[in-house]
Amino acid sequence: MLCPYCFEDIDHLTKDPHWGFVCDSCCIEMNRIDRDTDWDTWEADKRQYIAESSEH
Ligand SMILES: [Zn+2]
Repeated sequence: MLCPYCFEDIDHLTKDPHWGFVCDSCCIEMNRIDRDTDWDTWEADKRQYIAESSEH
Protein backbone atom coordinates (compact mmCIF):
# COMPACT_ATOMS: atom_id res chain seq x y z
CA MET A 1 0.00 0.00 0.00
CA LEU A 2 1.04 3.55 -0.65
CA CYS A 3 1.49 5.77 2.37
CA PRO A 4 -0.53 8.97 1.67
CA TYR A 5 1.99 11.06 3.59
CA CYS A 6 5.37 10.06 2.15
CA PHE A 7 4.10 8.12 -0.90
CA GLU A 8 6.34 5.20 -0.10
CA ASP A 9 5.16 1.72 -0.92
CA ILE A 10 4.90 0.02 2.47
CA ASP A 11 3.81 -3.58 2.99
CA HIS A 12 1.90 -2.80 6.12
CA LEU A 13 0.39 0.56 6.90
CA THR A 14 -0.85 1.27 10.40
CA LYS A 15 -4.48 2.32 10.68
CA ASP A 16 -4.21 5.25 13.01
CA PRO A 17 -7.45 6.68 14.44
CA HIS A 18 -6.07 10.17 13.91
CA TRP A 19 -4.19 9.96 10.61
CA GLY A 20 -5.84 7.04 8.87
CA PHE A 21 -3.55 4.64 6.99
CA VAL A 22 -0.01 5.74 7.61
CA CYS A 23 3.43 4.12 7.73
CA ASP A 24 5.22 3.85 11.06
CA SER A 25 7.71 6.64 10.43
CA CYS A 26 5.01 9.05 9.25
CA CYS A 27 2.84 8.11 12.21
CA ILE A 28 5.69 9.03 14.55
CA GLU A 29 6.34 12.21 12.60
CA MET A 30 2.68 13.26 12.56
CA ASN A 31 2.35 12.62 16.28
CA ARG A 32 5.47 14.70 16.89
CA ILE A 33 4.14 17.59 14.78
CA ASP A 34 0.78 17.34 16.50
CA ARG A 35 2.45 17.49 19.91
CA ASP A 36 4.77 20.35 18.96
CA THR A 37 2.12 22.48 17.30
CA ASP A 38 -0.17 24.65 19.33
CA TRP A 39 -3.24 24.20 17.15
CA ASP A 40 -5.21 26.97 18.87
CA THR A 41 -2.51 29.48 18.01
CA TRP A 42 -2.18 27.95 14.57
CA GLU A 43 -5.94 28.36 13.98
CA ALA A 44 -5.92 31.95 15.27
CA ASP A 45 -2.93 32.83 13.08
CA LYS A 46 -4.67 31.39 10.06
CA ARG A 47 -7.86 33.31 10.75
CA GLN A 48 -5.84 36.47 11.25
CA TYR A 49 -4.05 35.89 7.98
CA ILE A 50 -7.30 35.29 6.10
CA ALA A 51 -8.86 38.40 7.68
CA GLU A 52 -5.86 40.51 6.71
CA SER A 53 -5.64 39.22 3.17
CA SER A 54 -9.36 39.78 2.54
CA GLU A 55 -9.07 43.40 3.64
CA HIS A 56 -6.78 44.21 0.75
ZN1 LIG B 1 4.84 7.36 5.25
